[in-house]
Amino acid sequence: MRGENAMYIDGAWTAAAGQGVIEVVNPVEEAIIGHVPAGTAEDVDRAVRAARTALPAWSATPPAERAELLAVLTGILTARKDELAATISAEQGSPLPFSQAVQLGFPLAVAGSYAELAATYSFEEKIGNSTVYQEPVGVVGAITPWNYPLHQVVAKVAPALAAGCTIVLKPSEETPLSVQGFAQAVHDAGIPAGVFNLVTGLGPVAGQALVEHPEVDMVSFTGSTKVGKQIAATAGAAVKRVALELGGKSANVILPSADLAKAVQRGVAMVMFNSGQSCFAWSRMLVHSSQYDEAVEMAAAAAATFDLAPLVSARQRDRVRGYIEKGVTEGARLVAGGLDSTHERGYYVSPTVFADVKPDMTIAQEEIFGPVLSIIRYEDEAEALQIANNTVYGLAGAVWASDEAEAVAFARQMDTGQVYINGGEFNPLAPFGGYKQSGVGRELGVHGLTEYLQTKSLQF
Ligand code: NAD
Repeated sequence: MRGENAMYIDGAWTAAAGQGVIEVVNPVEEAIIGHVPAGTAEDVDRAVRAARTALPAWSATPPAERAELLAVLTGILTARKDELAATISAEQGSPLPFSQAVQLGFPLAVAGSYAELAATYSFEEKIGNSTVYQEPVGVVGAITPWNYPLHQVVAKVAPALAAGCTIVLKPSEETPLSVQGFAQAVHDAGIPAGVFNLVTGLGPVAGQALVEHPEVDMVSFTGSTKVGKQIAATAGAAVKRVALELGGKSANVILPSADLAKAVQRGVAMVMFNSGQSCFAWSRMLVHSSQYDEAVEMAAAAAATFDLAPLVSARQRDRVRGYIEKGVTEGARLVAGGLDSTHERGYYVSPTVFADVKPDMTIAQEEIFGPVLSIIRYEDEAEALQIANNTVYGLAGAVWASDEAEAVAFARQMDTGQVYINGGEFNPLAPFGGYKQSGVGRELGVHGLTEYLQTKSLQF
């Protein structure tokens, strides 16, 4: 009974306790394409109790069996790839080929990696006269955003299940339909009732109830730094484990020896990716004075070649437009894009590039979460490093230099969780997460698995 009045709790699609619904809107047409229940504390309580009840049996299930179920789940998701991609395109607005390659490509790779890891990871080690066991943390409350709806869900659910935890998921209110599809896949994979539960709803209602619930042992959150701080405070007061994947303001540092054209081209692409709605977006480009004008020209030309999908919602579009206005007001020079749009309908923002951005301007400090690049000038490497590290964030970044060792030496001094050297590729097994206010903890690969484990030492 998936659909308007359905939550996936304790292995079944069941009606929500209340009558409230959330409208799901297509960002291209601005049309309502579906409804999901607006869950309340009562639904959250039911889901958490189901997860608690399912925990002893699931945590005692041999890792190899958990791995097999994750492999079955990966197979089902793969078989339904096109259908799920179409759902993400409809509710999130990303073009179908992007949804297939990225919005589904990432989570399929991650789900598959945890099916393997669950089977091969050693949950037990000897240290002197001790045997140390890695045991599941318990019931996990997961809260996710809308920019990569399934990737962020799988990056939490797959390692949690691999670790032997049970989980209650509260996805973004903007993109719940694809997550309902995920829940159906979990069901069809034969994952036991109560191990995975889905409660749709609003953040301050269902999300908050999940964070506050005394039977939730760990909260894993991906979203804004603002909400992350509130969640950390609430969960911290109850001494729950907290994992936070928050915002970013990543610096793309182009050192003078780099291949400028390549670095600028890729740098622009990494801001426009997913219409700028990526926490890892390289939203600041740092260029040496001697190459600055040339880089600005190249970036403006590159930006003009992008035909971007809309942002997820009117609210996000208005927020991004507000930042563009702010950039102009604070004296940055608009060299591409801006407030004009050729679209009559849809939440579009043109690919936008600002030059002459000073490191302390709002558009150089705050996460815009839209297709807006700020190009900042530096005089020497020391200044480049100082600018790169001069934000409250530290999620990702990039360094370009002719000599890899030179780029690595610079990257090692950046206060950030990931750095892409000379255009290196995303690695779905590498730890992903932030320094400073970009977060706490790491997702993906082995590091993502250990987030959901706690250790017990037995001495002999
Ligand atoms: P958001 O923080 O507004 O919402 C994220 C989730 O939290 C949603 O499910 C929302 O319903 C829920 N929520 C909101 N208020 C809550 C509350 N008081 N208690 C509990 N839950 C609550 O963020 P968003 O607008 O959905 O997503 C954009 C933000 O997410 C950006 O800042 C972006 O950088 C960040 N993000 C970070 C990563 C990462 O891995 N670091 C990945 C994607 C997005």
